[in-house]
Amino acid sequence: MSHVGTLYIVSAPSGAGKSSLIQALLSDSSNQPSQVSISHTTRSPRPGEVNGEHYHFVSETEFKQLIEENAFFEWAEVFGNYYGTSRVAIEESLAQGIDVMLDIDWQGARQVREVMPNARGIFILPPNRKELELRLNKRGQDSQEIIAKRMREAQSEMSHYTEYDYLIVNDDFDTATQEFSAIVRALRNEQEKQAIKHSKTISALLEV
Ligand code: 5GP
Repeated sequence: MSHVGTLYIVSAPSGAGKSSLIQALLSDSSNQPSQVSISHTTRSPRPGEVNGEHYHFVSETEFKQLIEENAFFEWAEVFGNYYGTSRVAIEESLAQGIDVMLDIDWQGARQVREVMPNARGIFILPPNRKELELRLNKRGQDSQEIIAKRMREAQSEMSHYTEYDYLIVNDDFDTATQEFSAIVRALRNEQEKQAIKHSKTISALLEV
């Protein structure tokens, strides 16, 4: 394999705009090749969510079977539901030189760092608590009870930002997207990756 993609761990409290930022990043052709990993979850689909596109929606029994089969690269219980990243979802792509984004929580992030210390973590924060609450309400897909619960969880989730390499404050969406792209593009120019990608050119340049 001539080159290997970068694994990104992208975490944020619900409502920080993480999914929209990832989608904006992926739709910009200059950030290709890259993809987002589709997780398995035991939570019910929200209106508009498509099985196999947003998540692989599975029962708790199926999820536990996958844990038994060691099918998960990482998994965690978040807000009372199980979420997990399957190995097949990422390993092949990385080996093909595709950058892979993991949209996962801080618990999963810790597991990924243990096995893949080269994975890069990006944490996304909302500009303030009031705006976060507004965004959770605007989504209009969860009940008030769940929104209140997630507001409480948000503070504890955000306290983990120190475990990540990069921090983006999503106040203005376009600015945040540009910051995200800048990280991805800079990492593609890491010396070790460039040395592999341009090995022939470099050898020719250094030939005496
Ligand atoms: P939601 O239910 O709003 O889609 O996601 C709730 C939380 O679960 C988010 O913080 C999201 O990043 C996290 N999550 C989604 N997929 C995974 C996964 O595969 N593993 C882990 N650890 N967390 C996940």
